[in-house]
Amino acid sequence: MQTSFSEAQLRDPDTAESNRILRTCVHCGFCTATCPTFVLLGDELDSPRGRIYLIKDMLENGRPATPEVVKHVDRCLSCLSCMTTCPSGVHYMHLVDHARRHIEETYQRPPAEKALRRLLSLLLPYPRRFRLALRGGVLGKRLAGLIPGDNQTVRRLRAMLKLAPDAIPAPSPVERPAVHRAEGTRRGRVALLTGCAQQVLAPSINEATIRLLTRMGIEVVVTRGQGCCGALDHHMGHHDPAMRLARANIEAWHAEITGEGLDAIVINASGCGTTVKDYGFMFRAEPGDIAGKAAQVAALAMDVSEVLAKFGYEPTRDNPGLTVAYHAACSLQHGQMITGVPKDLLKRAGFAVKEPAESHLCCGSAGTYNLLQPEISARLRERKLENLHRTRADLVASGNIGCLTQLGGGGLPLVHTVELLDWMAGGPEPPPVAAVRAARAAA
Ligand code: SF4
Ligand code: SF4
Repeated sequence: MQTSFSEAQLRDPDTAESNRILRTCVHCGFCTATCPTFVLLGDELDSPRGRIYLIKDMLENGRPATPEVVKHVDRCLSCLSCMTTCPSGVHYMHLVDHARRHIEETYQRPPAEKALRRLLSLLLPYPRRFRLALRGGVLGKRLAGLIPGDNQTVRRLRAMLKLAPDAIPAPSPVERPAVHRAEGTRRGRVALLTGCAQQVLAPSINEATIRLLTRMGIEVVVTRGQGCCGALDHHMGHHDPAMRLARANIEAWHAEITGEGLDAIVINASGCGTTVKDYGFMFRAEPGDIAGKAAQVAALAMDVSEVLAKFGYEPTRDNPGLTVAYHAACSLQHGQMITGVPKDLLKRAGFAVKEPAESHLCCGSAGTYNLLQPEISARLRERKLENLHRTRADLVASGNIGCLTQLGGGGLPLVHTVELLDWMAGGPEPPPVAAVRAARAAA
């Protein structure tokens, strides 16, 4: 694709990168077939190629974002299915990240929309605040159907309340800064990103991760100062808060790298993993020594499935005779190109693994997307649930809390992959598995 940015524009590192990306696109349109919003809406402007044209026009002309550009970029899930499909290697993620930042800097959103985005940014990355807000959500959930009206704000409020859990688990002690010693001879040392929303919604995921890794002889450090990876803000175009959160993580982990050393930084929420692996790019033009530190951190970032494969996961329990439908989170399959490893681990653990049809399509979770675009998100959720039900599997496993939350209440027992692997290696039986086995025994 030809571009015509001026010399002055290209002095900005983000514009220079977007120019490079735009020039790799050859307009072939292969990406449209696997884009969830194009598949649902059938509008070229809701396809990757259409968005690329809109973004090019906006950036090249140095114009503030228009309502049309905002509408179509906001509808993008950042699922990155287009990147998997694109034969030319167009780095759509960096392009849309730049567009989102430009939109937030140049576009006046309606006050209610602006307030909602600000609220999400103030709540979700901070576990204590999020837990408090969820307590209100648990109560409000019962009243969601009674909220009058049907405007966009009301629909979003209903979507938020629908996603609130029925009960909030107690905070887990493993979230606190600590060193979890390896059992037996130490074979490795890793830092764990304990995350933000996940530790509130499902603390059992970090507990299973720590149990499993330490049992495998890997010391797990929860460093003081680490927190939200910044992805939620980053995907809303909130550049400064995202960079502040990411910087705190980089400093915390870098101190460990130069201290006792780390073999990996383990991430068990794949949405976060995609962002931490991108820290090197995000900080490439920052002054001082942070760019080098960020590159080191990014190079060590690994999904928990990669770490388990690297250190040789082995189950210790007998084959459970259960079938698992593996739901591939977009951030894992498209963002990190991790496709076979989680399925191989589940098979190694003794499960029969099934893959649903249209496994490349997003479930509609996508960070805050299910709160900001509830209609499209709900359609994708229904489609995903239908495909998962058709597998007739006993359980559904996924490596991302966003997907597990999105698919909750859909009549399927859902469990994080690492919880299944921990169970088969001596950990406690996850409650959804216990329920399935009890039902089977009673039948
Ligand atoms: S990231 Fe996903 S929704 Fe956005 S353009 Fe690419 S395929 Fe479509
Ligand atoms: S598949 Fe790649 S090169 Fe083709 S239109 Fe889409 S982004 Fe451009």
